[in-house]
Amino acid sequence: MQLHVVDHPLVAHKLTLLRDMSTDSPTFRRLADELVTLLAYEATRDVRVEPHLIRTPVAPARGVHLTHPRPLVVPILRAGLGMLDGMTRLLPTAEVGFLGMVRDEETLQATTYATRLPEDLSGRQVYMLDPMLATGGTLTAAITFAFERGADDVTAICLLAAPEGIAAVERAFGAQAPVKIVVAGVDERLNELGYIVPGLGDAGDRLYGVV
Ligand code: URA
Repeated sequence: MQLHVVDHPLVAHKLTLLRDMSTDSPTFRRLADELVTLLAYEATRDVRVEPHLIRTPVAPARGVHLTHPRPLVVPILRAGLGMLDGMTRLLPTAEVGFLGMVRDEETLQATTYATRLPEDLSGRQVYMLDPMLATGGTLTAAITFAFERGADDVTAICLLAAPEGIAAVERAFGAQAPVKIVVAGVDERLNELGYIVPGLGDAGDRLYGVV
């Protein structure tokens, strides 16, 4: 498993505003969107391309285009939905699947309540979107799901991670697994309620309000 913490002043600037409890929902949504586009640039560094010949107005030229099957972007509902537009801005031809997962606030275990993914993910690069990598339970379940359907390369894009969550994903899949985590920051720890400290609170609530 690879961990990539994006070290860029613009990422740090936007993350600081995102964490600030006085940032309102519309601003939070816009910042999350912008931040994801910056993270997506790093996350897609290994996106598969193949040679492609074109003609410029002047001469033939060798270039590349994305391979088929297209990458699959999977926001993990609910909060991952706030990251979808930022990701597809960079990968507009990607297909999009959905995975609805909810964390039991007492046991912190993740359960799946909705799936809308292709049955066969063989040969697919999958980009999972989940803003908070906290205990790692949700992301581990989601990556397992993708591997069971044949995916051979999974990149998770998260806004923030706790060391406990990163360790849990690595324990689940091993150091050599084709799993990459791209994140804007790694915080200190989880608190007793499973929230990232200092974190930014409940990402879903901050994006969409409390339900
Ligand atoms: N989910 C969140 O939205 N925030 C946390 O800090 C942890 C899990």
